[in-house]
Amino acid sequence: MTGTPAARITKVVIVGGGTAGWMTAAALSRLVATGVAVTLVESEDIGTVGVGEATIPSLRDYNRMLGIDEDALVRATGATFKLGIEFRDWRRLGDSYLHPFGTHGRDIEGVSFHQLWLRQANLGGDPGPIGDYCLSAVAARKGRFTRPASNPQSVLSTLSYAFHFDAALYAKFLRGMAEEAGVVRVEGRVAAVDRDAETGFITGLRLDGDRCIDGELFIDCSGFRSLLLGDALGVPFTSWQHWLPCDRAWAVPSERQGTLTPYTRATAETAGWRWRIPLQHRVGNGHVYASDHVDDDAALRALLAGLDGKPLAEPRQLRFVAGRRERLWEKNCVAIGLSGGFLEPLESTSIHLIQSGITRLMALFPDRGFGGVEIDEYNRVMLREYAQVRDFIILHYHATERSDSTFWNHCRTMTIPDMLQAKLDLWSGKARTFREQGELFTPDGWIAVLLGQGVRPVSTDPLVAALPPEESARFMDHVRDMIGKTAEAMPTHEQFIAQHCAA
Ligand code: FAD
Repeated sequence: MTGTPAARITKVVIVGGGTAGWMTAAALSRLVATGVAVTLVESEDIGTVGVGEATIPSLRDYNRMLGIDEDALVRATGATFKLGIEFRDWRRLGDSYLHPFGTHGRDIEGVSFHQLWLRQANLGGDPGPIGDYCLSAVAARKGRFTRPASNPQSVLSTLSYAFHFDAALYAKFLRGMAEEAGVVRVEGRVAAVDRDAETGFITGLRLDGDRCIDGELFIDCSGFRSLLLGDALGVPFTSWQHWLPCDRAWAVPSERQGTLTPYTRATAETAGWRWRIPLQHRVGNGHVYASDHVDDDAALRALLAGLDGKPLAEPRQLRFVAGRRERLWEKNCVAIGLSGGFLEPLESTSIHLIQSGITRLMALFPDRGFGGVEIDEYNRVMLREYAQVRDFIILHYHATERSDSTFWNHCRTMTIPDMLQAKLDLWSGKARTFREQGELFTPDGWIAVLLGQGVRPVSTDPLVAALPPEESARFMDHVRDMIGKTAEAMPTHEQFIAQHCAA
């Protein structure tokens, strides 16, 4: 069956100049050369959310797609490298573990490495923490960093990393790229949204001062306001607060002290958690908390008491609700960033979800017919991804032994989503993990958090019995030894930055 293709989109309008707006503009700027006008409207008076400093390795794919020179990016944004996240006090007070990027050991004869580790531990051996078998975890603990090797035979190829950066400088960096490629920035406040009376499609934006901007495809990057998708098109918000009760945060930068840790720290508190994100020029700190369980003053005191150095600004409070819109693409409007949904930054996933929205929009880029098939596919895949990330975050709260506050008692005993329960059931039996199609977090990530939070399976995979215990113990010693020596030979994080990309 053939039909006449609908006309091409020639005018794209992005509302919002935060991380979401400028990441979208930089990616879509390549369309300008094909005759598409890309306009970004933002209001300096309204400003941006101004947090969002920790990322995950997938961001490197976005950088590569745009041809961004990584060292230049690190220099321009005061960035440091991130090998994982250290979780303190999550399983119980005084406990800590790392969720590293990268892999644990190496599978042998089809048996996953963590199965060997578990068998060894079950036999009463002392294999040490599973993190000892992951180069990113060992290097993080030693404060070392280098880039991974491309040769898959090298232990260094198992390393993976992301960045900590100054979010405002990142948006500025991308703005430079987007404007150079022809994206037009308009300063102004969107006061009203015009819609076609028949179809309900957005036709244009009215700005303060009687200016109008018309377009064919509108990208809502207006932050928590959700000006187009939420306000104008009325797409409802689904709250996940019953699973993720944290609804406020205090954020404050502080003076840098001591060495630059190549990892984010997330320290559990009585009703939430604090983040610590080291940048070259300062440390980013925040306290995410549940206002039903702790008051604002106490939450602020806990944040300030945990700083390494002096605060560099007045603390700022942010309010939010975990959840997402029921659809992220409606009619001729796609919401990217906080306008589409919010999941707390425990696993630094918001910027990834922005990137994921951009990549999928580019793969399903519409014409003026706005086919339902593309829109349905976009919503299906993106909503699934939000749910997968949500479940991984819930795991950290739910799999805990803490009983020292009403908050932890709620999280430990709450009913969790079916999808997460199925994963936990599979793990609890024979330590099996599965990765759904398109799922962001790898089995290694799940294993690090499950074991770190103390979720021990009843037994191991029967296949592991085919490998003699003494032989696998020798293999594990060898892996640990190689990883230790490789990490020791790496430059320190500071040395690497000084040599390659100091701000
Ligand atoms: P915003 O930054 O709020 O930008 C909205 C834009 O819309 C602004 O430019 C504003 O001026 C414009 N706008 C709004 N209304 C109008 C109007 N009427 N007219 C014109 N313009 C308008 N993410 C991570 O990946 N890692 C982290 O470590 C992390 N930490 C976080 C910590 C906290 C406490 C919070 C709340 C979020 C965190 N995030 C993190 C999420 C991250 O901050 C956001 O995903 C990211 O900054 C994108 O925000 P945005 O661009 O969607 O919205």
